[in-house]
Amino acid sequence: MSYLRKIEYEIALKESFWIVRGCPKCGRKTYFQNTKKFRINANGNKLDIWLIYQCEECKHTLNLSIYERQKVSSIPKEEYQCFLDNDEQLAEMYGKSLQLFRKNKVTIDFEKVNYDFVKLHETTEHSDFGEQVIIAIKNPYQLKVRPEKQIAEILGMSRNQVKNLLEKGILEVKAEQPQFISVSVNAGKFSETDRLFSEI
Ligand SMILES: [Zn+2]
Repeated sequence: MSYLRKIEYEIALKESFWIVRGCPKCGRKTYFQNTKKFRINANGNKLDIWLIYQCEECKHTLNLSIYERQKVSSIPKEEYQCFLDNDEQLAEMYGKSLQLFRKNKVTIDFEKVNYDFVKLHETTEHSDFGEQVIIAIKNPYQLKVRPEKQIAEILGMSRNQVKNLLEKGILEVKAEQPQFISVSVNAGKFSETDRLFSEI
């Protein structure tokens, strides 16, 4: 009896995105980081809420608009309390929201991104087609990491080793999209796969 193992990973950000832009105080391009603080401005029953970023060199601040002239009643109470408390988790969540950066027309520095591979789950089912492993890697932030590099980091190999396995057909990229890649490890035919299997 042979088995098909499916292992799913996700690329998770370790920290908020950084912004790269010209700082008016420094007079040149610098990097802005998440202060994990919010600014709230009340005007009648309307609220403006920003997430505060700052230049890492001079602390010049840059406010990213989260809510603009929003009715108090339309903001969930729990979330509003988190804004008041400068809740770190919420600030991190907004600091990883591609939509927030897009809306504020600021440039994310994708060179400075710290990420990890998080194993989401693994399933095993019977297969009539020999031993096989399929590794799926979700990339919800669409980080520009080449598939070989993603596979190499998950398998703990060098990029050259992965390239070599791809050329031999031991590894096969089945799907490749900005948000998702799927790789199959073709077992049975090759002796190298025994080692591979034990390492995943
Ligand atoms: Zn500055």
